[in-house]
Amino acid sequence: MCGIFGIYNHNEAATLVYLGLHGLQHRGQEGSGIVSSDGSKLYSKKGMGLVSEIFKDDNFSRLKGISAIGHNRYSTYGESIIENVQPVVVNFAMGSLALAHNGNLVNASFLRSELEVHGSIFQSTIDSEVIVHLIALSRERTILDRITDALRKVKGAYSLLILTEKEMIGVRDAYGFRPLSLGELNGSFVLSSETSSFELIGARFIRDILPGEIVVINNNGLTSYMPFDKANEAFCIFEHIYFARPDSCIYGESVNIIRKNMGRELARESAIDADIVIPVPDSGTPAAMGFAEGSGVAFDNGLIRSHYVGRTFIVPRQSVRDFGVRLKLNPVKEVLKGKRVVVVDDSIVRGTTSKKIVTMIREAGASEVHVRIASPPVKYSCFYGIDTPTRRELVASRMGVEDIGRQLTADTLAYLSIEGMLKAVSTSPDKFCVACFDGKYPIPFSEDEINQLGLFDV
Ligand code: SF4
Repeated sequence: MCGIFGIYNHNEAATLVYLGLHGLQHRGQEGSGIVSSDGSKLYSKKGMGLVSEIFKDDNFSRLKGISAIGHNRYSTYGESIIENVQPVVVNFAMGSLALAHNGNLVNASFLRSELEVHGSIFQSTIDSEVIVHLIALSRERTILDRITDALRKVKGAYSLLILTEKEMIGVRDAYGFRPLSLGELNGSFVLSSETSSFELIGARFIRDILPGEIVVINNNGLTSYMPFDKANEAFCIFEHIYFARPDSCIYGESVNIIRKNMGRELARESAIDADIVIPVPDSGTPAAMGFAEGSGVAFDNGLIRSHYVGRTFIVPRQSVRDFGVRLKLNPVKEVLKGKRVVVVDDSIVRGTTSKKIVTMIREAGASEVHVRIASPPVKYSCFYGIDTPTRRELVASRMGVEDIGRQLTADTLAYLSIEGMLKAVSTSPDKFCVACFDGKYPIPFSEDEINQLGLFDV
């Protein structure tokens, strides 16, 4: 996933980026970085861990200047090491440049090998560094043309922030996989993965960056370019299901409303006689509210989440993930005892967390546990920036719904259909990528790329 945030022309640029990144913490918890510019030089501070753990008071006086970009890392490509924390900063023929990337390139390994053959030396193992090398090697004369030239060579999902000494540049790939929005704070332009971070710093949302758009922000204001061939939009539906904050508007729609709609559709498709509907907090909460409204069954809080443990889905090591589940949720016995419970979650990926939750609810005294999932079965890996595991690890790629229900020890299990999911959004359904559910990848893969990505690794 990853979260990116940038501001141009504000006296407290680095501090505002720090706040913006804090508001995007859910999009990546492995590491963060901020790079600022004072008009002639870039300054950088990066670290591993949460935003609040990395940046201390004295960092901000060193992050000089009136423009800054930042990045929260969540690994979809490359290891969890400090070298892979972004923004990537380089010095090249045209000066200095920092790049922050949300997304995933599907041809990064090929490009990297090719670049290495021609002498490029990589400092990290992340796909985003490929873009920086391509920009540096481009023969075009302006930075805008170099960026365009570089991005014409890459394949995949990218929302980017680029900071040079004099400019901040925002880019969204032609498919629009990942969100990127434009805001304004007292005359300063702000770019963010999510609109909720605008509110946090008191900025006003202006509009989304369009798929295929490059915005260049400098002393002359903002200039928009549409240099890429048009592609069919492929907005990631998982942003609405799980990743984005419910208080954000993604692709022009409220995440909270869409999650509730998904819950309502789920109730329409698979309501059941029960005493209470409970969410798996926090991302399952709006869908559970929608399910309760749609089914007429009372909503209650049967599980309490500790907010001091990271989101298990985005921690890369299995040992930490298992530990995290036990720490993260606790049942409210008084709510669950003797009740027929419907528990609503946003998605099932590996199935290990869901099984523990069902067991926990039963042990708290529930007489029946019915699991309802506000998205379809995740059967295919994502190669566009969401860290879904290989197909082998995706429980729905190995088993049918009934078998998964048995494995979870649930009384019943039902998922939302793909049609029901797309009814929940008002944007035209054909503007969404739903490849992790139906295997129809919007960007075609060559046979070599398929092997490299482990696409059919079952
Ligand atoms: Fe989003 Fe799934 Fe498409 Fe990946 S494959 S971009 S997670 S909808």
